[in-house]
Amino acid sequence: MTYQNYSLKQLQHIDAAHHLHPFTDHKELRAAGSRIITRAEGPFIYDLEGAEILDGMAGLWCVNVGYGRDELADAAYRQMKELPYYNSFFKCSTPTPVLLSKRLAEIAPKGIDQVFYGSSGSEANDTALRLVRHYWALEGKPEKNRIISRQNAYHGSTVAGTSLGGMEPMHQQLGGAVPNIVHVMMPYAYELALPGESDHDFGLRAARAVEDAILEAGADKVAAFIGEPVMGAGGVKIPPASYWPEVERICRKYDVLLMLDEVITGYGRTGEWFAATTYGISPDTITTAKALTSGYQPLSALLVGDRIARTLVEKSGEFNHGYTYSGHPVACAVALANLDIIEKEGLVERVKTDTGPYFAQALQEQIAGKGLVGEVRSVGLMGAIEIVKDKATKERFEGNGKAAVVVRDHAIANGMMLRATGDTMILSPPLIWTRATIDMACERIAKALDLAEADLRAM
Ligand SMILES: *Cc1c(COP(=O)(O)O)cnc(C)c1O
Repeated sequence: MTYQNYSLKQLQHIDAAHHLHPFTDHKELRAAGSRIITRAEGPFIYDLEGAEILDGMAGLWCVNVGYGRDELADAAYRQMKELPYYNSFFKCSTPTPVLLSKRLAEIAPKGIDQVFYGSSGSEANDTALRLVRHYWALEGKPEKNRIISRQNAYHGSTVAGTSLGGMEPMHQQLGGAVPNIVHVMMPYAYELALPGESDHDFGLRAARAVEDAILEAGADKVAAFIGEPVMGAGGVKIPPASYWPEVERICRKYDVLLMLDEVITGYGRTGEWFAATTYGISPDTITTAKALTSGYQPLSALLVGDRIARTLVEKSGEFNHGYTYSGHPVACAVALANLDIIEKEGLVERVKTDTGPYFAQALQEQIAGKGLVGEVRSVGLMGAIEIVKDKATKERFEGNGKAAVVVRDHAIANGMMLRATGDTMILSPPLIWTRATIDMACERIAKALDLAEADLRAM
């Protein structure tokens, strides 16, 4: 049963008849038909009709080493032949998660030496939530269980992930969040800085919202603060340099644990192995997934700092939590091969010293001047383009994000995959992009912006 026996129309019809998609308006999808991607190579994806599209999103923030890597396929194949699965419950282990844990402890920031595995970022955040609450209970402070997060944060789509996250439309369909999670303002200067307020001052003010929430609850009731170093799905919101050090200072002052969600930023995206290093902070937990395997296998790793790990080991009975696929041997084998590639090809260093700065410059020089663009920003190889009706006043087009969809559709038709979230275009390409790939992307995006502007101004 190969898909080649089906026409595009037939596959779209079957897809519509039987396949419920994530984050999708199914009525709309059924009217339009899905785009069916059949293969990919290097930085390009190809759809069933043969269109070649430059993948500006690395799949969904994950394919950092690009497509078509035989090393990863071989690692999976060898592991599947030798031992496709065994669990790590009941005092068992298999070799690949053992070796991957050592490897992750080596590249993780200092003071982080333990790993708990799952199969997705959402699962890892569920683990993180339980673990920090369990930690305080073991420390004799079970009432210190509140978590502070941020509006518009994305921490996954399970009940715990949605509860930790601050996405209003997701909460509306949740029917009751996990209790004792509060959300404070995000460090999004473009929309939230006051007139005349410097980035530096805005960053401090956004950090103080964390302190206010701690004081309101009482420090003895607050377990942890969780945040994405750079908010991803919420629109690549890059905090001012003053934000994270101040958040860390506040967390330490009130003995509140610092949890970073690096599901996007982990493994090189910001030009360091972890964005904790980019922002100079020392978290107690780091949630990672996506680029850990470059998306070739589902795998998450919650990196656990020594403070929590020590208590867990010394005071715990059983931690009543885990997944069938925790430490899956095939996924871990692929992760090891993936880290080999990142290391061998110097991708993290390349983002830091070459492609990251070039990407920032290209966005400024080729995109920022376009009529629809209110702001461009980037860190490493993740970037955002704000779509506005009026550059000076930052006025948006009507229709809550409809304008960005017009830009996106022109971009895809132009061979450029990027994502629209609200009124923001976002980019998170594979780390294998070169200067030439960045130029190609900017050229295609510039053209899409021009075409979209003609459409939007004529409406
Ligand atoms: C994607 C993402 C998640 C959820 O990961 P899944 O693998 O989709 O469950 C969590 N946090 C952040 C920051 C993400 O970008």
